[in-house]
Amino acid sequence: MGVRMKHFNEQISKAKTIAITGHIHPDGDCIGSCLALKQYILDNYSGKKVDVYLESISTEFRFLSHAQEIITESKDDENYDLFFVLDCGSEDRYEPFATMVRCAKILIGIDHHISNDGFGDFYKIDPQASATCEVLCQIFEEDKISKECAQCLYTGIVHDTGVFKHSNTTRKTMEYAGMLLEKGVSTTKIIDETFYQKTFVQNQLLGKALLQSQLYAEGQIIVSNLSEQDFEELHASTSDSDGIIDQLRITKGVEAAIFLYPIENGYKVSMRSNEKVNVSEIAKAHGGGGHIRAAGCSMKGTLKDIQSTIISEITEQL
Ligand code: AMP
Ligand code: MN
Ligand code: MN
Repeated sequence: MGVRMKHFNEQISKAKTIAITGHIHPDGDCIGSCLALKQYILDNYSGKKVDVYLESISTEFRFLSHAQEIITESKDDENYDLFFVLDCGSEDRYEPFATMVRCAKILIGIDHHISNDGFGDFYKIDPQASATCEVLCQIFEEDKISKECAQCLYTGIVHDTGVFKHSNTTRKTMEYAGMLLEKGVSTTKIIDETFYQKTFVQNQLLGKALLQSQLYAEGQIIVSNLSEQDFEELHASTSDSDGIIDQLRITKGVEAAIFLYPIENGYKVSMRSNEKVNVSEIAKAHGGGGHIRAAGCSMKGTLKDIQSTIISEITEQL
């Protein structure tokens, strides 16, 4: 059942205690949407307790309002009246807080992943929207969006559109961004400090991944990976590799990019495509998901086997 405005207002008005979560390894849209929703509720509904649960967030996002109050550990004895799950295509993606979500009286999902088949009592999924923050712009009343809320929404849109450059950027995306600009958001700070700025270590990791990259299918597919040793040598964590896939994708002549790093029992696989390949389909077939041009999954097996499986599945589409 799709959540309509009526349900959104009604459910928030009815609830005394509200929790919000998003996907594991939270990105700009996940953090932005969770904090925007908290801010919007606090700004417009009185007497609500609102808690945001997410895994630890990167330091560059900590200036967003209420970011310091994010709870990183599940409180399994808390029973919320209403639980929102944002930017999350499936239940396994909010696994650290799944017990709490299950105990909530009402569950609402708001998302834009094409791989999201819908879960919860109510949900709104718009695969045409560039970001979950754009879906929130559709739901929120414009004159009730504060500057603090706008900062969070703008951050999410900036991140999921790669600063308005990915093919998911539509006229509507730009119109919402324009509306948020008028709320006084710090565009330069958000774009430079949360998106483009990299630490020295992140740049070194990127350099390593680029040096180790290889071309397949007559230069249409680019593949790179980082090993545990690569991360150790640079004292880097896996989250420092965010963004590497986007640099691989813009290699001239490339239609699809694949980036892998080891996780327990296998590899995390990130995929991006330009015009021809539906990477969401491939990710979904391996238990993951995402969008047509940006998707991911976790796969068991050796690096060599996983790479050749994905390369041949992409080649079939070329
Ligand atoms: P990533 O490559 O991790 O940046 O993810 C690209 C897109 O695919 C994002 O929208 C993710 O939410 C989604 N995604 C990544 N990994 C998974 C997964 N294992 N299951 C479902 N969706 C995923
Ligand atoms: Mn996300
Ligand atoms: Mn998103």
